[in-house]
Amino acid sequence: MGHIADNIFSFLDQIPSNVKLVAVSKTKSNEDIMEAYGAGQRIFGENKVQELVTKAASLPEDIQWHYIGHLQSNKVKYIAPFVSLIHAVDSFKLLKEINKQAKKFNRIIQVLLQFHIADEDTKFGLDGGEANELLQNPNLASLENIKIVGVMGMATYTDDQEQIKTEFTRLKSYFDLLKKEYYAQDEDFKELSMGMSGDYQLAIEQGSTMIRVGSSIFGLRSCQI
Ligand SMILES: *Cc1c(COP(=O)(O)O)cnc(C)c1O
Repeated sequence: MGHIADNIFSFLDQIPSNVKLVAVSKTKSNEDIMEAYGAGQRIFGENKVQELVTKAASLPEDIQWHYIGHLQSNKVKYIAPFVSLIHAVDSFKLLKEINKQAKKFNRIIQVLLQFHIADEDTKFGLDGGEANELLQNPNLASLENIKIVGVMGMATYTDDQEQIKTEFTRLKSYFDLLKKEYYAQDEDFKELSMGMSGDYQLAIEQGSTMIRVGSSIFGLRSCQI
């Protein structure tokens, strides 16, 4: 058995059963993905549309593909036929486009709202005010082919554990607030996507339900994107 399968087993051993493991396979080969698949892994995350489309076409149909990167509206149509969850929605415009494309394929696409929790300017995502604006948009209810099932965020790339913890706590409070204000009656709104190879343990401690792990499963990427 190879390292990738071993890593999958060890993650599944470590993480609580209510936490889903998204195996982030960006830049990795179909062979690597199939090794993880062979170990039982079914959820894979990609952050480039073209790469995702190519992989999805040649790999088993029961894989649940998560799109974890920043998504441009004009590319939604390529992944709409099959994508299982889109992690990083941060505008009403994008939500509308996902709805439009999902409708064409007679699907309901699940999405997460991305929040900006890091100290860095470069990362995408909503703040509290923008999220309220989006969720109070009078046209939201008419988007019948999307389903908002939770929130997602990325902590600052730092060794400072306290800072990461603070940022995850912030994301958890956004989640709790949205749950209370907008989704108290909605059992599907339950996902808190946070935590990567370097910080998934902290994320789980702060309430993550979905960790996105790449390098700890597949090894380092030659190009860190
Ligand atoms: C690449 C990536 C990950 C995984 O990163 P690792 O540090 O390799 O685990 C998680 N989330 C997003 C959004 C990513 O782009």
